[in-house]
Amino acid sequence: MFMAILGIHSKIIRTVQEKQGTLTKGILQAEMRGKHNKHASISDDIKNAVRNHINSILRIESHYCRSETKKEYIDGSKTISELYRDYKTSCEKQNIPYSNYLMYYTIFNNEFNIAFFIPKKDQCELCLAFKNASPGEKIELQEKHDTHLKEKELSRKEKEKDKTSNSVVAVYDLQAVLPCPTGDATSLYYVSKLNVFNFTVYQLQNNEVGCYVWHEGQGQRGANEIASRVWHYLVNLNAKAHNEEKIIDVIFYSDNCTGQNKNKFIFALYTFAVSTLENIHSITHRYFITGHTQNEGISAHSTAWCDCDVSERYVDSCLMPHCLQSVIPLLCGVLLWLHEVFLRAGT
Ligand SMILES: [Zn+2]
Repeated sequence: MFMAILGIHSKIIRTVQEKQGTLTKGILQAEMRGKHNKHASISDDIKNAVRNHINSILRIESHYCRSETKKEYIDGSKTISELYRDYKTSCEKQNIPYSNYLMYYTIFNNEFNIAFFIPKKDQCELCLAFKNASPGEKIELQEKHDTHLKEKELSRKEKEKDKTSNSVVAVYDLQAVLPCPTGDATSLYYVSKLNVFNFTVYQLQNNEVGCYVWHEGQGQRGANEIASRVWHYLVNLNAKAHNEEKIIDVIFYSDNCTGQNKNKFIFALYTFAVSTLENIHSITHRYFITGHTQNEGISAHSTAWCDCDVSERYVDSCLMPHCLQSVIPLLCGVLLWLHEVFLRAGT
C-alpha cells in the first residue's frame, strides 16, 4: 500500500534495506546514481584530430591588418560549418571516428584566435564615421569633415594640374598580397600558398603601366623592395630622357603607407637618384588624402589579376609567378618586370 501511495517500486525499499546494513556512524551511504566512470567521452585522439585539421588551414597575411595582433587570419571564403564538413569528409575517407559539429565549433572558438579574412574595400574612415554619426555628433564632426572634403578636392585639382605640366607624373602602389594558387576547388583551400606581390607604376600622361611582380621567396614588401622598384623605374626614365636629350622633372603620387612609401628610405633614394641620374632634374612626391587615393594604378591591379582569371591559370599550369610573364602583357598591354630584372638595375 505504501508503495502505491508513494508511487515507488520494491527496488527502492530493497536498496534502503541493503544500505541500512552498511550504516557507518549512523549515516546512510550517499546516492550513487550517475557516479560511475562509464560516461561516453570524446577521446583525446578525436579532439587532437580536430585541432590538427584547424591547424592545417592556411593562415594568411593580411595587407590591411599588419598591426601587432595575435589574431590569425584564414581565407574568409569558407564558414566554420563548411570547414567542419571538410573535416568530416576527410575522416570518413580515412575511416576514422570524428567529432560532432558542436565539439569542432567549441575547439575552433575556444582554443584558437582565428578570424575570417574578408578583403576590405578601400573606404575612408572619416567619411564613414560622418555618414554613420547621429545628428548631434554630425554637428561636432562637421568642421573636420568639411576640411577633409576640401583637402580631397584640392588634392584632385593638384593632380589634374600636374598632369598638364611638363613633368612626368606617375602614381605607384603595391597591390594587396595575392596568395597563389587560388580558386574554388576545396583542395586549394588547404594547400600552402605562395604570397605574390604586384607593384604598379602608372604614368598618367601616356597611360603606361609597369607591373613589378615578385614572390615572398624572392623578397619582402618593405621600403627596400619598393625603393628598388622605384629606382629601376627612375633609371629607365633617365635613359629615355637621355635618348630624347631632355631634362625631366618627376612627380610621384602614392598613398600614405609608412612601411612602403612614406619613409626615409624612399627619400634617401630620391636624393641619390637626383644626384646620380643626370637627366632627372627633380623628384617631387605628393601623398593622397588618406581614404581617397584616386589611384589609377588600382585599375591595373584589377585588370592584371582579377579580370584575366590569372588565378585559374595557376591551377592549370604551375604556381610559380614566372608564368605571369606570358599572361599579363598579352592580356593587359602592360610592361612586366620580374624580380631578376630589377635586381640587375643597380649594377
Ligand atoms: Zn573621406
